[in-house]
Formats: sequence, structure tokens, C-alpha cells
Amino acid sequence: MLPDLARLIELQEIESKAAVANKAIADAPGRIAALDALLHDATAALDNAKHALAESKTRRGFVDKDLAAVQQRQSKYKDQLMQVKTNDEFRAMQHQIEAAAADVGQYEEKILINMMEVDEINATIKKAEAALKAAQSKVSAERGAIEQDVKTQQGVLAETTAARARLVAAMDNKGVVESFERIAKVRGTAVARAEGERCTVCQVRLRPAVFVQVLKNDQIVQCDSCNRILYFVPPSAPASPASASARNGS
Ligand SMILES: [Zn+2]
Repeated sequence: MLPDLARLIELQEIESKAAVANKAIADAPGRIAALDALLHDATAALDNAKHALAESKTRRGFVDKDLAAVQQRQSKYKDQLMQVKTNDEFRAMQHQIEAAAADVGQYEEKILINMMEVDEINATIKKAEAALKAAQSKVSAERGAIEQDVKTQQGVLAETTAARARLVAAMDNKGVVESFERIAKVRGTAVARAEGERCTVCQVRLRPAVFVQVLKNDQIVQCDSCNRILYFVPPSAPASPASASARNGS
């Protein structure tokens, strides 16, 4: 194979590796931000539930206070009932006592509803605490993995940069590097394997004369359609004598 063609194939591998590394590094801040958002949401959910509990307790405090006031009024009326002089006064006082009892019933009902509400909020808090804990361990594990991956990819990038410089320096024809870069800029990859008279990347059929040239691997040949620099990998040797004789049979 033409040494420069072999170098271009290697250069493509290096560029692809560098692209993967660059993408991983570029994606890392977004992935970490997504983890932070997860943690933020879980924290907010727990805060909301705790806030709801505090509000419910405050409401309960008001109801307790109101209930105590009515109960106090009720016992005062009961004392006064003993001191009334007339039937009218007695009936009036009894009416007051009944009204107070109805109020007591209402406040007790409110307390019951509040207690159920508190049970529900406490269950929500428990769930939110578990969810936050799960989010915290997920985030710390994944954040660590992302940070580790960034370090690894930075190492890969340093290696590819050095390898690329070595390859470019070794090129016999510096012009092919320029072609490579021009094609890579437009197509993403600049090198393509040819197989069965086709470019395996753009899938367009090659002219027979072009394919014959590519088979030799001894010059820089570009795909007529996508412009990628073509190379050919000969099929590997037959796996067994049986398949060899089958291939050569007839
Ligand atoms: Zn092509």
C-alpha cells in the first residue's frame, strides 16, 4: 500500500477517536447540569412537602385555639345555667350551650381532617426524602464518572494530537493532508473503504477503471460521488482448505 494512503487511513482513525473525545468533553457540562437539575428538583419537592407540613401545623394551631375558646365559653354557659332565675333565661342559656356544642363539633371535624392531611404530608415527605437520597447517590456516582471520563478523554485528545502531528510530519506528499482536511470538513470523514465496486460510505458504484485503481492501493483515488479517498482491504485468506477448494472449484 502507498505509505501515504496507509497514513491517511490511520489519520482518519485518529480523527474519529479525537471527535469522540471532543464530543464527550463538550457534552460533559450539559450532563452535569442535568444531574444538578435532578438534585435541585428532588430538593425542591422535599422542601415543598416540609413547607406544606408547617402550614398544616399552623392551621391546626388556629383550630386548637378556636376550639379552646369555644370550650371555655361552653363551660362558662354551663356555670351560668345553674344561676338562671327564669324559664326564658334557662332556654336562652341552653340555646347558647347547644350553639357552642355545634361549634365544638365543627372544630373537632376540622382537627380530624387536619390529622389526615398531616398523615398524607408525612408520607409525601418520606417519599421525597427517599427520592432525594436516591438522587444524591445517583448524582454523585454519575458526576464522578463524567469527571473521570472527561479526564480520560483529555488524555485521549492529547495522544491523538501527538499522533496526528507525527503522521502529518511523516507524509511524503503534504498535499494529501490538505485534501484530507478539505474533505473531512465537508463530509465528516475523509477516507472510505471500497468494496464490491462501491464506496462503502456513500454507497455509490465506482467506475470499473476507478475500482481497478483502488484495488492496487498504490495511489490516492477519490470517490467520484463523495470525494472521499478510497482504499481497498483484500478479503482475508480462506478459513479452511474446504472453503478454499469450494472457492476454487469448477
Ligand atoms: Zn463515496
